[in-house]
Amino acid sequence: MPSFVITEKCDGCKGQERTACQYICPHDLMVLDRDRMKAYNQEPEQCWECYNCVKICPQQAIEVRGYADYIPLGGNVIPLRGTDSIMWTIKFRNGVLKRFKFPIRLTPEGSIDPYKGAPEPDYSKIKGPGYFNYEARTQ
Ligand code: SF4
Ligand code: SF4
Repeated sequence: MPSFVITEKCDGCKGQERTACQYICPHDLMVLDRDRMKAYNQEPEQCWECYNCVKICPQQAIEVRGYADYIPLGGNVIPLRGTDSIMWTIKFRNGVLKRFKFPIRLTPEGSIDPYKGAPEPDYSKIKGPGYFNYEARTQ
């Protein structure tokens, strides 16, 4: 089931130009109502339930109501992401809480250079067959 915002917890990311949930949603579903400073999922039927917005929200204001095959019926699952680990809090419908903490990375946050060792781009080759794209095809 799609993500939804718990409006009491959402602070609109304090009015920043772009909220964290807007930034992270791969489907551009999250929007901010600037009058109320509350975010919402504008097209729930398009939600992939990827949990990205749930994990990034600094206020833990977004939930995805999961299917019973991986979330206990009537319960909820709330992640809390740190710089090197993530804590999942499972709340069962009888109130029982269980927490599971997992490491999420082996290197310090921000330390990875994704282009390390890669050659500098040579834009003179951009129209060669190895760089085939729509623009090259139409010329
Ligand atoms: S990331 Fe969380 S606090 Fe920020 S706008 Fe979205 S729901 Fe609200
Ligand atoms: S769960 Fe994923 S697809 Fe759905 S609103 Fe959040 S970020 Fe977007």
